[in-house]
Amino acid sequence: MTGITAVTDRFHRPLGSLRISVTDRCNMRCRYCMPETNYVWLPRASILTFEEVSRLVGVFAPLGVDKIRLTGGEPLLRHGLGELIRMIAAHPGVNDLALTTNGILLGEHAAALHAAGLRRVNVSLDTLRPERMAQFAQSARHADVLHGIEAAQAAGLGPVKVNSVIIRGYNDDELVPLIEFGRTHGLELRFIEYMDVGGATGWSMAEVVSRREMLERLAQHYGPIEPMPENLASWAPADRFRLSDGTVFGVIASTTEPFCRTCDRARLTADGHFLLCLYAETGLDLRAPLRSGASDGELTALIRAAWASRADRGAEARAAEADRSALYQIGTLRADPRKEMHTRGG
Ligand code: SAM
Repeated sequence: MTGITAVTDRFHRPLGSLRISVTDRCNMRCRYCMPETNYVWLPRASILTFEEVSRLVGVFAPLGVDKIRLTGGEPLLRHGLGELIRMIAAHPGVNDLALTTNGILLGEHAAALHAAGLRRVNVSLDTLRPERMAQFAQSARHADVLHGIEAAQAAGLGPVKVNSVIIRGYNDDELVPLIEFGRTHGLELRFIEYMDVGGATGWSMAEVVSRREMLERLAQHYGPIEPMPENLASWAPADRFRLSDGTVFGVIASTTEPFCRTCDRARLTADGHFLLCLYAETGLDLRAPLRSGASDGELTALIRAAWASRADRGAEARAAEADRSALYQIGTLRADPRKEMHTRGG
């Protein structure tokens, strides 16, 4: 497609990055994301095929999307994911193709995913203690996650980043051990503030450990912490910091210091709904036009119009709420599973 120009929204934010949820299923049940045993799953026939996802990537790329992240649910539960990676990697303009995973199945797939064209992986690991993971995420597969991280590094998917959601009373005593784990294994830690999104139905501000508190606690242990200069001019969600020994880590402060101003991220649900914001009430259905014969030009026009009218600042709006509690209760999520974090992709 030639002659298509990049699009910006009403606050001059480009459409630079697309997070694609490839499945709403997950093999963990983290209390802050997907705490229930059963969910209203998206109908199988509604899930986009690899061909459909790849075609949409080909429409998004000329509009400015050069970063694609595959997520879910747990993306490695989607059969044949390497084939989708191969198809996406073949699109000119996609410079950064990454995956966010809980790591359980990474050990068996890392080498093939790298061979297919995957370049980067973020592994979610909230605790170094298997018994905590068993209790908090109902998974006994802590050792598999560690093995997955090793396999990703061995496959050349480095530097591997480790995402840790920090929750008061659960793992906030592991800030230093997690940094040390990263240092020992050549991993970059990214501490994420607990967010009141989708399935976080038990969310409360009391359980949020703010970026400020994380930095204070780390400084007590390590001494002065220096912000990286890139923080001032970056579309990336994590602000990065450096310890005096050179160790670098990131913090994503979406809850207490939201960064809507620099948000260039859109999301695609596994069933083809285009979301302008993680907090958006609803999205634009791209599956219907895709399956009823829309041309690439028509799809481009739909996406362009949606992004050009974008004025979302969801995290800032939430932060401004005086009496903040969980965004949704389970009934709301059952009525509309596209509000779930695992459906819209974290
Ligand atoms: N299953 C994959 C994984 O575990 O990384 C990908 C999907 S998961 C929804 C993506 C990321 O969202 C994970 O790092 C997870 O910890 C994060 N996440 C989920 N719920 C969250 C919440 N309430 N607050 C902050 N981060 C959350």
